[in-house]
Amino acid sequence: MFECEGCGQCCRAKVDWDFLGVKFTDDDVDRISRHLGKTAEDFREIYKVKNEFINIAKIGACPFLADNRCTIYEVRPAYCAAWTCNGTHKSVGDY
Ligand code: SF4
Ligand code: SF4
Repeated sequence: MFECEGCGQCCRAKVDWDFLGVKFTDDDVDRISRHLGKTAEDFREIYKVKNEFINIAKIGACPFLADNRCTIYEVRPAYCAAWTCNGTHKSVGDY
């Protein structure tokens, strides 16, 4: 069974993976904004949530990634919580 190596690649924009956005549903936004002490409206504005996604193509990585760790891990989006890594990051390189 694959074990997470903490490379952080699953939180970065990878064109070849078609992974250019992180999904933040309305429930995610409510939970995470409360956790951060912000309103849902402020959260959407600050992180530019559009159609339930934060586009990370330009910024290169999820804004909640720091030192290859998720800074909102306890309240992370359902999409991220459901993520299972198949280890293909190993062939991506440069990390
Ligand atoms: S890409 Fe896989 S190994 Fe790397 S941090 Fe994400 S889950 Fe862990
Ligand atoms: S919310 Fe956390 S787990 Fe999800 S992409 Fe961002 S840093 Fe990664």
